[in-house]
Amino acid sequence: MLERLDEPVPRLAEDAIAALLREQYGVDGPLRRLAGERDLNHAVGGDYVLKVQNATDGEDVIEMSSLAIAELVRRDPELPIAHIVPTRTGALWHPVTDAAGRTCFARLFTFLRGHHPGPDELDERGLYRWARVVARVGRGLRGFFHPAARYEIAWDIARAPAQRDGIETVPEGGREVVAAVLDRFETHVAPVLGGLRAQVVHNDMGRANVLVDDAGAVSGIIDFGDMTHTALVCDLAVAMADVLNGRADALDAAPAMIAGYRSITPLEHDEAAVLADLVAARLAITAVIMSKHVRADDVDVLDERDGAVDLLRTIDAFGFARFAEEIAAQAHGAAPVWRRRGDAELRRSRDRTFGPQTLSYDEPLHVVRGEGAYLIGADGRRYLDAYNNVPVVGHCHPEVVRATSAQMATLNTNTRYLNEAGVELAERLIASAPPGLDRVLFVNSGSEANDLALRIARQATGRRGALVTRFAYHGITAATFELSPESWQHASAPPDVALLDPPGGAHAELPHPSHPDVAAAVVALGGAGLAVTVVDGSFISDGMRGPAHGWIRRTATATHAHGGLYLADEVQAGFGRTGDALWSVAAADVAPDFITLGKPMGNGFPVAAVLTRSDLADPFIEATDYFSTFGGNTVAAAAGLAVLHVIETDGLVERARARGARLRTRLEELACRTPALGEVRCWGLMAGVDVLDDAGRPDAAGARRIVNALRQRGVLIGQTGPRGDVLKIRPPLIVTTEQLDLLVVELGAVLPS
Ligand code: PMP
Repeated sequence: MLERLDEPVPRLAEDAIAALLREQYGVDGPLRRLAGERDLNHAVGGDYVLKVQNATDGEDVIEMSSLAIAELVRRDPELPIAHIVPTRTGALWHPVTDAAGRTCFARLFTFLRGHHPGPDELDERGLYRWARVVARVGRGLRGFFHPAARYEIAWDIARAPAQRDGIETVPEGGREVVAAVLDRFETHVAPVLGGLRAQVVHNDMGRANVLVDDAGAVSGIIDFGDMTHTALVCDLAVAMADVLNGRADALDAAPAMIAGYRSITPLEHDEAAVLADLVAARLAITAVIMSKHVRADDVDVLDERDGAVDLLRTIDAFGFARFAEEIAAQAHGAAPVWRRRGDAELRRSRDRTFGPQTLSYDEPLHVVRGEGAYLIGADGRRYLDAYNNVPVVGHCHPEVVRATSAQMATLNTNTRYLNEAGVELAERLIASAPPGLDRVLFVNSGSEANDLALRIARQATGRRGALVTRFAYHGITAATFELSPESWQHASAPPDVALLDPPGGAHAELPHPSHPDVAAAVVALGGAGLAVTVVDGSFISDGMRGPAHGWIRRTATATHAHGGLYLADEVQAGFGRTGDALWSVAAADVAPDFITLGKPMGNGFPVAAVLTRSDLADPFIEATDYFSTFGGNTVAAAAGLAVLHVIETDGLVERARARGARLRTRLEELACRTPALGEVRCWGLMAGVDVLDDAGRPDAAGARRIVNALRQRGVLIGQTGPRGDVLKIRPPLIVTTEQLDLLVVELGAVLPS
């Protein structure tokens, strides 16, 4: 295969060239030699370029590129490509015999104005436009074929492994990295390459073959000599490798090229996954082939080789896995994260703008992406996210992303129009809810849902009082703050709220008194009377105390007996997390008057809702002309529908039950072995684990140490409970058994021995 590259450039004296031009083309003009790795190229006056192809290019190869050029001109006439000037007899090429007696083929092209850009010449816009042209050429060649496209060429990235035997020619310092790239290629790329979109591609749109005008716009594509049938994405990889080669800011410049290419040709998942490897493989090929060719006087070849080696070393220093992940994410359309502030600077800026708002973990986590059960840090590390109950079906679930993106691109508006999405979501929610709940009011957050339900309850009952558990959290609005003793700190309790002991009893040392049952709490409400009892069925803030079906039944029954309404806040425990049903309250077999939904409902897209009865909702809607601008907007509804669909089709409720059972077993085993862990309370994929000190007392500082140590080891959990001594574990419902086992193993590893 490599003979094709070793064959010297054709030799033809200038007078022979001039004669050829005159006789075959009727063209005259001063000749100027142009660069060419394999071919003999001359500018002819200011209008033409004569190209005498390398002797190894047979007539079939010449025919292929000539037909390809004709096809491109036809399909995308605006593309700046050199047209072929036919001979006097109408032929697109003409055979000549060079000074060494070899038969070569000559073609005359129209001259394209412009210059080859220097390595650092193109700005972001220029790179973006360059890659758009690459994609347009690929698009223009779609479906084109010629038997010669099957010929093997060494510059085809798919053939990178063939360069192994030339590694020794690469200067020291570059060999190791070239070898590592080829190793990665064989394990990561070779097995999937055959399954990628393939077609005839230009395969050489680097700086040597593309001209730009003074504004940096592509003004010419001049060489079709490396065309081959290979994976389409190789075209982008070649352009990236050859354009970024030699740039000081190569990594920062890459995103513009990816974005430009994507703007014409979005990449498929598997293409995105191997793009970085293909870029690196092209650089490795360049390093080896140029090393073989190198002659001390050939500055261009030396520069290209050294640029390729330098860029590979830059990538290596950055971390190849991290580079590959970044490139893949950008190829999927993610914003680049490379030009980011350092963590310390970002932290200062956050403090300056957000004030002292809490950050999780002693060493705050700088996250740039989420994927399934993982959050990905700016350090490129993957963190198993067992804390976040928002991404119930996993971070960035493709179906939710697709549904919301498609809806965003189609229509996003409020609920005061007729539209399917919101109505369908409401119908599905009603169908899933306990009997009697026949109204859905969409809002944007759990806080809003609880706030709205409180207003409805107050209007319906004519009373103001509310009961919540001792350390509950129900939101940030003025009204829901009053329902959230967790947030009161040492402020005095609001007048219309009384506290109930959670299941398992209240901790005596808390500042605000609580009551053992509804009857006692209603007495404490005094004249306000009972409008509503608001209960998170998992009692997360109270230290994760669910399931407590008996407690819930007693409390709901007593609430109703006192003329109050019962609100099941499913912001935490809803959407299948308990492994029993979609709504945790269903397991307790009570008839709630309200179910409020939030966090997981849109898997990260803000959407929330109040499910209630028409006899409660309708008078309120009429009296207040109820309307929420963003609540239940079309994109939010698309998100909600996608989440329900994934939960249903993937059987995530059942999965939460099975995985939750395993989590419980593993946690209990660990707790039995270690005095630092006390009671384990699990309900589906929601767990609370008490942390104890040496004397067996609740140990908030110990819990904090564990949570932070786990974060350092790549596992994210939280802390909860009135004393902060409870480990809070809430992985997404798609978590795998292996991930749960890893979580428990890591937890075991950070416990005091
Ligand atoms: N209710 C419960 C039980 C919650 O846990 C939360 C949030 N942690 C809320 C309501 C408030 O939801 P949001 O933050 O979406 O307003």
